[in-house]
Amino acid sequence: MKLNEKFINSFFLLVEMNATRITTCFRRAINKYAFWISANNYCLFCKQYSRINLPHGTLLTISKRYLKDGVPAKGLRVNAVCPICGSYDRERFLNYILENYSTIFSENYHILHVAPEKNIKDKFDGKNPNYITGDIQFGKANQIVDLTDMKSQFDDNFFDYIICSHVLQDIVNEENALNEIKRVLKNDGFLILSIPICFQMSKTLENNNLTFPIERLIYFGNRNHVRMYGNDYLKRLNDFGFTVQQFQANKILSHDKILQNRFIAGDIVMFCKIN
Ligand SMILES: [Zn+2]
Repeated sequence: MKLNEKFINSFFLLVEMNATRITTCFRRAINKYAFWISANNYCLFCKQYSRINLPHGTLLTISKRYLKDGVPAKGLRVNAVCPICGSYDRERFLNYILENYSTIFSENYHILHVAPEKNIKDKFDGKNPNYITGDIQFGKANQIVDLTDMKSQFDDNFFDYIICSHVLQDIVNEENALNEIKRVLKNDGFLILSIPICFQMSKTLENNNLTFPIERLIYFGNRNHVRMYGNDYLKRLNDFGFTVQQFQANKILSHDKILQNRFIAGDIVMFCKIN
């Protein structure tokens, strides 16, 4: 990473962290003392109700390509984070799907959890000895894992599950990553996948030439993204050799249930199986 790129990344992080800190203090105070606001937000992780959740997501989503509500789970979400345990909206929905549509928490499956969500990770840690977390960055998981090359780390047909939520859009060589995932995944295993999808675009937008964070922010609405998936996402996954079963919050849950759990209405979790 170039020095100026590091500087801009640090600047964005600083702005976002401070904005989050201020709103966090404010909302925690409301949550504690605003007795006139009903505690209607339920959290699946800490199993408690809160009055107001905390915001999450970048304030700096300035891309004009993606209209509001065009990309579920992207941009600033005002009621995203549980003020009690810190769980995120996407993480709660992923957990809901895993709990209700898989047996992942009940057996000691071989699992690779990429860029692990903390509260889901905590459910496996110390209980399943075959659970591994991986991240491209040092210190964020048990192992440094580059999805595009895992040959020195994992054998073929090794994992029952690979959990990969909002990671694929940051990887330049998507084909290598999906081929490696197919190699290490058992034939009857599942890739649990979630990606940002702009439903208003028919085709996925990619531009690997944008290496500067500000360029990617303007183009994709996020400084780390190298592509924005369009409505061809299922065809792309099929072409890469996966059969996909998808769970979309507003197709499987009522409006009230989505609101109560503070899920994102259009959020999608996919169970991908090798053809
Ligand atoms: Zn919570």
